[in-house]
Amino acid sequence: MEIFDQLDTETNSTLFAELLLPVPIPKLFTYRVPQSLNEKIMVGQRAIVPFGDRKILTGVVVSTHSNPPKDYEAKYIFELLDDFPSVSEIQFKLFQWIADYYLCTIGEVMNAALPSGLKLSSESMVQLNPAFNLEETDYDFSEKERMLLKRLEGESLEYSAISKLLGVKQVYSLLKSLVRKEAIILYEEVKEKYKPRTERRIRLTEAYLAAPTLETLFETLAAKPKQESIVLKYLQDVPVLSHAEQNKHGIARKQLMDDTLSESSLNTLIKNGVLEEFDVIVSRFEEETLPDYHIIQLSEEQHRAQVEILASFKDHNTTLLQGVTGSGKTELYINMIRQALEGGSQVLYLLPEIALTTQIVQRLKKIFGTSMGVYHSKFSDNERVEVWNGILNGRFKFVVGVRSAIFLPFDNLGLIIVDEEHDSSYKQQEPAPRYHARDVAMVMAQLHHAKVLLGSATPAVETYYQALQGKYGYVKLDKRFGEAQLPTLVLADMGRERKQKTIKGEFSGLLLKNIDEALAKKEQVIIFQNRRGYSPMVNCEDCGWVPKCVNCAVSLTYHQYRHALVCHYCGYREALPQHCPTCSSTRIKTVGYGTEKLEEELKFHFPEAHVQRMDLDTTRSKTGYETIIDQFERGETNILVGTQMVTKGLDFDHVSLVGIFNADRMIHFPDFRSYERAFQLITQVSGRAGRRAVAGKVVIQTSSPDHPLLETILKHSFEKFYNDQLADRRMHSYPPFSRLIDVTLKHSDKKICQASATALFELLRTALPGTKILGPGEPMISKIRNQFLMSLLIKIPRGSSELAVLKQALVKCIYQLLKEKEHRNTRVVMDVDPV
Ligand code: ADP
Ligand code: ZN
Ligand code: ZN
Repeated sequence: MEIFDQLDTETNSTLFAELLLPVPIPKLFTYRVPQSLNEKIMVGQRAIVPFGDRKILTGVVVSTHSNPPKDYEAKYIFELLDDFPSVSEIQFKLFQWIADYYLCTIGEVMNAALPSGLKLSSESMVQLNPAFNLEETDYDFSEKERMLLKRLEGESLEYSAISKLLGVKQVYSLLKSLVRKEAIILYEEVKEKYKPRTERRIRLTEAYLAAPTLETLFETLAAKPKQESIVLKYLQDVPVLSHAEQNKHGIARKQLMDDTLSESSLNTLIKNGVLEEFDVIVSRFEEETLPDYHIIQLSEEQHRAQVEILASFKDHNTTLLQGVTGSGKTELYINMIRQALEGGSQVLYLLPEIALTTQIVQRLKKIFGTSMGVYHSKFSDNERVEVWNGILNGRFKFVVGVRSAIFLPFDNLGLIIVDEEHDSSYKQQEPAPRYHARDVAMVMAQLHHAKVLLGSATPAVETYYQALQGKYGYVKLDKRFGEAQLPTLVLADMGRERKQKTIKGEFSGLLLKNIDEALAKKEQVIIFQNRRGYSPMVNCEDCGWVPKCVNCAVSLTYHQYRHALVCHYCGYREALPQHCPTCSSTRIKTVGYGTEKLEEELKFHFPEAHVQRMDLDTTRSKTGYETIIDQFERGETNILVGTQMVTKGLDFDHVSLVGIFNADRMIHFPDFRSYERAFQLITQVSGRAGRRAVAGKVVIQTSSPDHPLLETILKHSFEKFYNDQLADRRMHSYPPFSRLIDVTLKHSDKKICQASATALFELLRTALPGTKILGPGEPMISKIRNQFLMSLLIKIPRGSSELAVLKQALVKCIYQLLKEKEHRNTRVVMDVDPV
């Protein structure tokens, strides 16, 4: 790893350091370096500093110098957390770029970038590291440290509680020392506490470790062959007589017990004190998955694509690989990752949030073994710290991760792959930085002189356009691998079926018949409906009353399993009323189909089938998602119904039918991206069908069977789709022909919110003459969590050289607005390149 030059430190002059702190204030902070740290301090190290009256924070050293700040007295740095830099120069540059481009502070970027376990602060919570054992460690501990460790056995403690407990004000150096000795873990309360994975192990008890006692044991076991064979098997795996020390670690219970051995005999041995059971912590990254990969021969098509990609990298930094679903893009990535790693550089493989499943991780682990790090949002902070440090110390050369993996401390990237590059989960919505990981990846690649491969079956319109223009390289894979064919798509005409009375509930006769046939052939079915809950709406049949959220301007969704009406924006809940509050009628009915209702009706129509639902509600736990996928993969589930979670990256052998329950809502959504989204979702979910020998079929339910978008999808005519979209976007000057900045104003008072929006609009009109500003207007959902919303949309022509200037002017206008008394409490959120 790169170590920065230790900066000139003239020992006779006072040294100051500029620190980047994780706070939303747009500047660096100057601190004094204590004499004792003058020789140690390096750019990129983490430093603990006082902030405000009582707080302490962890910052990162950006530079050192000898100019005292003019208008205040600099406080001292308390302590350095690192011996070497934790943040590299390239990362600083990237963070700064993100802050400038996405209009936020670099402190906000840093806050998003560094896992909270790397940021000791007065807000930290401290827990005992579950893997730590005071008896077995080689480190020495002071009396205070021991006292704290004892207390932590019972509970986690806040920073302030620790300082009270130990009777010292500043406990950071003690905590730093305990973190180094791997005795404690820091976390933020808002996040999940670290729960380690444990494994049940077996070992011989102390008493039988010597040869004589072991002999006696075998004499007594002579009459109990079942128990005897277990002990023999154990000794075979753990030769305690020649290597007594190995007994300490024992072996995994599941490794000891094969089919021939009896569980009840094992339990008897444990009961009799011959063997004992104990739990050990296993690191998630050290599982024994040895690479057992036989190198896949790329098909001729795939090989050609790879040659083309490599050639295009000669004069493009970014190349788009447009490959139909099942064409073997993943195999191609694997090949390219291996090559890059063999060439000695690091590789980052980005995947959308929900596509990063055990399925793909296992596929990759088989090839890259333990040199691969996984960076996932469902991981605890401690696991993120492990990946971060693993890159710094060279353990991980290759990381597969979600969008936030772009913050990791790579120093030598050669290749970044952005899989499913069109996916909107690459864009962070809340809080700042509202960055798009695909776009940041391209900047990151530039800083590293690395290449970017964007992959998708349905590229974003913006990306496709850049490829057409020759700004990106462009390579196509338009056949599925092997015998697999692209699925056949058919429309279920809901209008016609309604007339013919072949509809049951909202299921077309056509879809039901196809499900029936697939099940009869023991094939699997996926049904896609992008609404969770039971019914998206409830209303009174007599007066039309609709229950609305008390905090937001949306109607409440009925969830049957909770017997409640729920707001999907703020989580507000209330019971389903028996009587209409307006007219007292009891005729209150649910309207529309969410995944929960679909699940219920599918079970009713196909009582023999095992139906499983996959949506936010069934996958909240860390393993919920994996369990559902595993069951489906093993064939235990016949019908999987779900939201867009079922559309991503899943690779199953036996899915012959995909049903799209309601295409209309996707198409008619009032947004300039709705066609693009519908096209992508329908194509992606269709891509789950017929990935092997079984031919796939897709049934799309719609009331507008003549819609031109459906026609292009049915014919798999990608080019027509993109050409239509580009013509449309050009006409209305939407991306890629312009850049958008979405400005949202929030206030609990509707009038003030509107007044602020109007005032800002006026300011902008003066400051940005000639720039198109739409609004101010109410967004589709005009109130969320009791905050009223107003929005403005700024359109900047593509290729405008003044982008940075315009952005600065925008920021200035907002400052100016917020200086005025009546607008002071309005919150203004800027979203650059909104999706
Ligand atoms: P995509 O990522 O484009 O959807 P995958 O890489 O998942 O496609 O490939 C689809 C399936 O075909 C996978 O199960 C994969 O293992 C298999 N496959 C693709 N290319 C090859 C190949 N060259 N040899 C053997 N199997 C392949
Ligand atoms: Zn009513
Ligand atoms: Zn709400």
